[in-house]
Amino acid sequence: MANFRTALSFDDVLLVPKHSSILSRKYIDISSSLSKKKYELPIISSPMDTVTESDMVVCMDQSGGLGIIHRYNSIDDQVRLAVKATKKGATHIAAAIGVSGDYEERSQELYCSGVRTLCIDIAHGHHTMMRDAIIKLRKMFGDTVSIIAGNVATLEGFEFLADSGADAIRVGVGGGSICSTRIQTGHGIPTLQSVIDCSMSDRDAAIIADGGIKNSGDAVKALAAGADFIMLGSVLSGTDETPGDFLVDAKGDQRKIYRGMASREAQRSWRNKVSSVEGVSTTVAAKGKAEKILADFSWGIRSGLSYSGCSTLADFRSKSEFIIQTSAGMHESSTHIMST
Ligand code: IMP
Repeated sequence: MANFRTALSFDDVLLVPKHSSILSRKYIDISSSLSKKKYELPIISSPMDTVTESDMVVCMDQSGGLGIIHRYNSIDDQVRLAVKATKKGATHIAAAIGVSGDYEERSQELYCSGVRTLCIDIAHGHHTMMRDAIIKLRKMFGDTVSIIAGNVATLEGFEFLADSGADAIRVGVGGGSICSTRIQTGHGIPTLQSVIDCSMSDRDAAIIADGGIKNSGDAVKALAAGADFIMLGSVLSGTDETPGDFLVDAKGDQRKIYRGMASREAQRSWRNKVSSVEGVSTTVAAKGKAEKILADFSWGIRSGLSYSGCSTLADFRSKSEFIIQTSAGMHESSTHIMST
């Protein structure tokens, strides 16, 4: 018989403000670790062809986070993007690979170009092919690479990948702003709920909350629920550092394309054929520099910890308290000034 349970999304919950003795947000440490590497900002940019190439990798690195170069290109092009980033002084660079086709050669070439964090990037990561790919990469590179795997939506999926050898796992299925997986397939779990479920695990792998984060408040909720990092796609889309040219709309305003990697348009351009469409393509208004958005997120997350009286993410995870809000509460939580 079907089994029903309730799953919570970012807008369903709020965090309870607590006593604080923190004198300034600058004393709050929001650093987080992935394998043994420490990142000052717990933010990773999505491996999408309208989000992360070398300019975004450099920006993420300079802001204290991590950028993952997408895999929707030839091996030569991806290696060139990795080298260009390295040349601009980025110390932390990650690159995405798949689980079939050229993935072994791709990871070997990326490794030779200096990449030491590989992200095995598939939509349904709770899969035998994902386990086989993690095991293969460990055989090829041992512990000299950090492996990010995903995406998964459940504790079982998380532990499957952790036990296969992943260092960090992207958690969230169907929640992305450009994602139509839930419409197309009926599958998915609200990202916050997936993070809550995966945080019950005793495995060491880091949790990367991925999909549906709209603002720093959502990021704070994900970190409180147990995420070690958050991943951003749409929030970073339209910034100067994203790939692609600016388009000018009828009003003369600048826009940029942001598209799901399983959208019809993306599939056509990276593999010249279209199979299951699980994403959409759109344009977003130009947003200026990504570093400004990352700085806003950094301050928003620090403020979030300070409202809970916590000075580290570990402290925050153990002390934060959620409440579920009603739809009236949700309305009150957004700006709601009455127009006159
Ligand atoms: P956003 O930050 O809400 O825009 O979500 C970005 C995330 O959506 C990415 O990191 C991927 O996990 C996911 N994603 C990217 N492309 C697609 C797609 O075409 N379909 C479904 N999910 C996607």
